[in-house]
Amino acid sequence: MKSLFIPKECNPEETRVALIPADAEKFVKAGWSVNVESSAGVKSGFADADYQKAGAKIVDAAFLKEAQFVASVGKPTKESIEARKPGSFHLSLLDPFNEKELLKDFAAHGVNAASFEMIPRSTIAQKMDVLSSQSNLAGYYAVIKAAETINKAIPMMMTPAGTISPLKFFIVGVGVAGLQAIATAKRLGGRVEAFDTRPVVEEQVKSLGAKFVKIDLGETGQTAQGYAKELTPEQIELQRKGMAKVCAQADVIITTAKVFGRKAPRIITAEMVSGMKPGSVIVDMAAESGGNVEGTVAGKEITTENGVLILGIKNLEGRIPASASQMFSANVRNFIEHFSTPEDGFKLDIENPILKSAVVVYDGKITDERFK
Ligand code: NAD
Repeated sequence: MKSLFIPKECNPEETRVALIPADAEKFVKAGWSVNVESSAGVKSGFADADYQKAGAKIVDAAFLKEAQFVASVGKPTKESIEARKPGSFHLSLLDPFNEKELLKDFAAHGVNAASFEMIPRSTIAQKMDVLSSQSNLAGYYAVIKAAETINKAIPMMMTPAGTISPLKFFIVGVGVAGLQAIATAKRLGGRVEAFDTRPVVEEQVKSLGAKFVKIDLGETGQTAQGYAKELTPEQIELQRKGMAKVCAQADVIITTAKVFGRKAPRIITAEMVSGMKPGSVIVDMAAESGGNVEGTVAGKEITTENGVLILGIKNLEGRIPASASQMFSANVRNFIEHFSTPEDGFKLDIENPILKSAVVVYDGKITDERFK
């Protein structure tokens, strides 16, 4: 395969694009035919003319019929899958744990599909890992959004008119997003505390100059892929108790806690929120997977009775779509290049360990029992 198609995103709320002109140019130089649906990049700041300058062709949606390799940010619609030819390849975020019907559609139409979520978290695959590249930006943006929303200044200021003490941040969940949130809050001059159930992150938190909140939950740990293991109900209760005081003192809480393939853990209860100061802000980064905070509504800003603002912003990285698309596009390019030869372009070698995990539909079949 040496022909690439970048359709417009099927979700009208998506602001990112899967390939930016600079990466399109690299493919064109390597002899690929790059086809981009008209206005696919506009929301992230890339005009059709930029793609044309890079050597790509601007086409309409009907190009799907002849597309070989299709890359997008979000999942396609059923109609989009039905329009494709058998044997073509699709790459995007697919949310395979929750989109079983969509996978059936791919299988029924003989379209092979790879899910970015299922790329293994190995050193070699890091360059293709959109979960990391996008979480990093989302963690950054969560802090920027909180900073813009909160009614206080962030850094300590000593002035003749008095001293302003630094804003207190509490970051819950220290994966990729949490680490970037800590780093961003520190850069802005905040005082930062953080907690994660994986004890290994304590060192990382400290190295960013933040304080690790210690709560003894007994046996926790992580999977071989570095993901958190799900806590027992008793452990969640212990965690809530341990966190209540830190929450009450925090001006900003950013929750990023996720458990791979499961609903996000509900960590902050309404009672804990009711103990917070009026004007405090919570950004629940797990809003779309169920929320870490009781009272979060995905896509909404909720003010509680005691004046705490809970932001359930969806697609945080999509608020900075030029940067997010740049990273996403590099991940797409790295994926394709990794499995390509100069002569033949992309080759789907299903025995390759990365593809074995990422390809969720192959040859008319769903490859993983968990998605059937
Ligand atoms: P994630 O988005 O799945 O979860 C975010 C964080 O929430 C994790 O740190 C998790 O431990 C934490 N969490 C889960 N339940 C919690 C709870 N009840 N309370 C508090 N925190 C809770 O995680 P992620 O950002 O994808 O990162 C997970 C791990 O994978 C990290 O160790 C990261 O360094 C690693 N990783 C490795 C690679 C690679 O090797 N290529 C790439 C990306 C991430």
